[in-house]
Amino acid sequence: MGKELDVEKVREKINGEVKEEVKKVVREVVRKEAAGEAAVQEDALEKEQENKPDIEPESETEQAGDWLKVEFESLSKNEELARVIAAVFASRLDPTLEELDDIKTAVSEAVTNAIRHGYREEAGIVVMEMEIDGRTIHIHVTDGGVGIANISQAMEPMYSSDPEGESAGMGFSLMQSFMDTVYVESEPGKGTRVTMTKTINR
Ligand code: ATP
Ligand code: MG
Repeated sequence: MGKELDVEKVREKINGEVKEEVKKVVREVVRKEAAGEAAVQEDALEKEQENKPDIEPESETEQAGDWLKVEFESLSKNEELARVIAAVFASRLDPTLEELDDIKTAVSEAVTNAIRHGYREEAGIVVMEMEIDGRTIHIHVTDGGVGIANISQAMEPMYSSDPEGESAGMGFSLMQSFMDTVYVESEPGKGTRVTMTKTINR
């Protein structure tokens, strides 16, 4: 008689093999899942980086300049808007209330001129740019209106081209007394750009 079949042994062997096989499958599944999760995480990281701007944010001290540019329609209601924007921006230099008032008045005069004289109350775009450079604030008010033929005459105290004589002709004089420098560039038919600076000393 040949070897008798040991049923128990065969069963054990099969069980052992099956167990090994199951273990293998489980290991494989666990490995795949872990890899999948890592892949998902990598994906999320990539997406997060995609949403970030290319340029590294500069630190406060490294910033090249503190500036602002606003464009608005030549409507008299925007005179107040320009005053308020200028005041908020200039506050960064911690000016006195008087200095702040000076800046607001000067901006208001320049913007009013752009609207009333430059655009003669008609539609147009007024551009206000402001820049802080150290303790000095630079302000430009630009219009693309009629321009000024004789700048020095226009800047004389009490000169006004206003035909009804309603204007005192004191706008430029106010700008000059409230700001440190006032510079006017203009070309008839093209427009006017008023540049003013003021240094805040505290
Ligand atoms: P006020 O400002 O006292 O109401 P005003 O506007 O006439 O009067 P200024 O602001 O000193 O006086 O301006 C003098 C003149 O310069 C104006 O009457 C106008 O002819 C001319 N002017 C000023 N700004 C402009 C501008 N942006 N475009 C064209 N002309 C201008
Ligand atoms: Mg004026």
